[in-house]
Amino acid sequence: MNQSNRRLPWAAVTVACLLAATAALAQSGVTPTAVNLVREVADILLPPPNPDVVAYNRALYALYFVRTLWNFAGLWLIVTWGLGPSLMQAMAARVRWEPAKVMACWVGVVVAAAIWALPWRLVGYQMERAYGFATLGPGLWLADRARDAFLACLYAPLAALAYHWMKRRRGDWWLPMSAVTGIGVLVMAVLWPVAVDPLYHRFRPLEQGPLRAGIERMAEKAGAPDPEVLVMDSGSRTTKLNAYVTGIGPTKRIVIWDTTLAKLPPEQVLAIVGHELAHYSLNHVWVGCVLGILGAILIFKLLSLALPRITRATFRVHGIRASWDPAGLPLALLLLNVVLFLQSPIESAVSRTFERQADARGLTISENGISAARAYAAFYRHDYADPDPPPALVWWFYSHPPLRERVERALWYGLSVSPAAGRGRPRPAAPFTLPEVR
Ligand SMILES: [Zn+2]
Repeated sequence: MNQSNRRLPWAAVTVACLLAATAALAQSGVTPTAVNLVREVADILLPPPNPDVVAYNRALYALYFVRTLWNFAGLWLIVTWGLGPSLMQAMAARVRWEPAKVMACWVGVVVAAAIWALPWRLVGYQMERAYGFATLGPGLWLADRARDAFLACLYAPLAALAYHWMKRRRGDWWLPMSAVTGIGVLVMAVLWPVAVDPLYHRFRPLEQGPLRAGIERMAEKAGAPDPEVLVMDSGSRTTKLNAYVTGIGPTKRIVIWDTTLAKLPPEQVLAIVGHELAHYSLNHVWVGCVLGILGAILIFKLLSLALPRITRATFRVHGIRASWDPAGLPLALLLLNVVLFLQSPIESAVSRTFERQADARGLTISENGISAARAYAAFYRHDYADPDPPPALVWWFYSHPPLRERVERALWYGLSVSPAAGRGRPRPAAPFTLPEVR
């Protein structure tokens, strides 16, 4: 088939798609004028970024990749310098219990990797300070990094279990490891909000008042009556805005950053909480846990196949006897980090799907598309969020849809039906599907 023949079917498909989209628009009553109006209002809410916003986001993107490569390089140096075999040798005479050796080796590697990662984390911190976002001093920043490393050290028993089963069961160690990790993910999802988050922040219940009453009304409508709504002292570390939903079972809660309460008017806070209530009522934390467990099973299976091959190819150079030798722990950790990095697009795509669902459902809960659009635009003004990130980066690591898409979706909702006329009635589907047709 020559070049022009090959193009022909695609041209036909494109024309057919355009015709179908036009027909759908006509049927839904959405005119090109309405499309232009929404885009024009979105352009007013999200004007072209000033040079500061552009520079800030470029630096963030660069920092993400530089830090990832730097951390890989650090683990690679730990492997090639033989830190694993050296630690195991040093403990050979003193420590008899094999799991204790593995756990000590884990702690040694985690602490070394955390120290190696510090320079670029410091660059990130200085950048946040230079742009006026960071409110925490160097002392608290360092204490937070120590807390991060401490939490990473607590995974040592999992490493000990993994090597125990690698030695005993060889090829199918991933099976019991997946079971333990599955239980661990669920336990951590319950404990995280009450055991880990308070290490970094203070939380207080949102006080009674018009805002609380508004949230309770929305919660009833969302089918999640009486949710726990807490305010976090985010201002102790940043000027940025946010809110999130976390925990499962008895620790399920919505958390609003105190900076969000301080900087946004109540109707915009309600629009943001509407989005969080949607996550809450759609059980996204539960679904996320289940998907996380399935991902862990796949990754363990992949490691069980790759680790013996890679160890065989490199053990002479790096002093690792076999894949089940704990001296190879840094190599296993490097491989795990590479796999986690390479699966970023899958994780981000799942997250963006959740966020789109929460945006759509959130609008039907708050019933205030205009305030939702203004609240999303506030992330651009206050947090310097990139309104139009490069599509390749969205695909790779964006956990949320681009800001402009979210603002336009909210405007569609806000402009399609007048708030008084639409209250309590189901909304037409068109405003939610249209932005994806672009
Ligand atoms: Zn969300």
